Amino acid sequence: MAQQTFSTHVGMVDILPGEVKKWQALERIIHEEAKKFNFEEIRTPIMEQTELIARGVGQLTDIVSKEMFAFERGDDQYVLRPECTAPVARAFVEHHLEQRGGTQNLYYIGPMFRAEKPQKGRQRQFHQFGAEIIGADDPAADVDIIALMMSIYDRVGISNTSLKINSVGDPESRKAYTEALKDYFRPHLEDMSDISNERFEKNSLRILDSKEEEDQPFIDDAPVITDFLTKETEAHYARVKELLKELEIPFEEDPYLVRGLDYYTRTAFELISPDLGAQDALGGGGRYDLLIEEIGGQHTPAVGFAAGMERLFIACEELGIDLVEEEMLDVYIVTLGEEARNWGLKHLPKLRKAGLSASMDYIGRSIKAQMKDADRENARHVIIVGGNELAEGKFTLRNMKASKEDSYTFEEILNKLTN
Ligand code: AMP
Repeated sequence: MAQQTFSTHVGMVDILPGEVKKWQALERIIHEEAKKFNFEEIRTPIMEQTELIARGVGQLTDIVSKEMFAFERGDDQYVLRPECTAPVARAFVEHHLEQRGGTQNLYYIGPMFRAEKPQKGRQRQFHQFGAEIIGADDPAADVDIIALMMSIYDRVGISNTSLKINSVGDPESRKAYTEALKDYFRPHLEDMSDISNERFEKNSLRILDSKEEEDQPFIDDAPVITDFLTKETEAHYARVKELLKELEIPFEEDPYLVRGLDYYTRTAFELISPDLGAQDALGGGGRYDLLIEEIGGQHTPAVGFAAGMERLFIACEELGIDLVEEEMLDVYIVTLGEEARNWGLKHLPKLRKAGLSASMDYIGRSIKAQMKDADRENARHVIIVGGNELAEGKFTLRNMKASKEDSYTFEEILNKLTN
């Protein structure tokens, strides 16, 4: 009988050794850019209380109503986090991070989980990087968040993107707008999709997010929120646009941009890439001035973004961008015979202690196979050790690129390779 084998869950993928390097390269870029912008990393658990996510992200959103990986243990109800803004906000409240003074400029990198139908650019476990500025009301914070996001794509080399921005209003503007939207859509409901009919009752703003073809003609003529903004919200939005222009960050206004999470107020934005196909959003974000209060904290205005790492890699592939710099192994010790092998095992740690990356064969392969292995590992140098070398105390050091070799004592080799 064939042995049972196992595979990952649908929509969840292994990141195999050959691919990890590009992830590490991207993570390095994110850490470096975040440092330039003076953001600190935060790491929260991948599980949160269901209630936090339901309240934070919004009970009526697709994420909470359909896509949660939820389970119980005793009386506790958990979800695998579908996003990281609510968890960061929870950590802010739980640990009184405001007591550290100033605004909290935080960033994160990690896996998120949504039980969506998998397709290109859409997985059930995917990875996001994101950043939050907690405790700042000023439009300068909105723009700093956008600038950090853009600087990461710039560093990666993805530049043919379009940044869409909108203001989704404060609760007062939103209420007036929602009523206007309902009045507008009501007479057309019969000709619109089931999803939009459902959203009409629960959250009419989300109709604007519909991808259904039959809804598009109605959405095209719908009232725009920017006509319903209060004076203050309008002024905030105007200043965000002004600052973006000053920083020479190109953007397009999209008055129908609403995001899939309920916590957004005022500024909302999305970064779109034409290289992604149907799932064309690289990332997005906005202000969430009411979230922290909603989950039990003091009123604290905040703004943030989240971006998908898998989608960034898809764009890289389309654009022919390779993030991985060629990596080389400094030394590979090739040994012939038992005694030489023992010499190698003893000297490998000395090479590593000197700061060199070093490796050797552990399974008794032939010299030819070891040389092949050294080649595969992209070794700069090979030390060849056999009976004669051991008797003389001098070892062959071969420069693999130059195809040159000479004999040296181990100390001389160490000296040569570290200077
Ligand atoms: P959101 O948290 O929904 O605003 O998503 C922010 C970004 O995360 C999106 O623009 C995508 O790049 C990425 N993302 C969201 N959901 C998925 C998913 N299921 N699979 C892959 N990437 C995703």
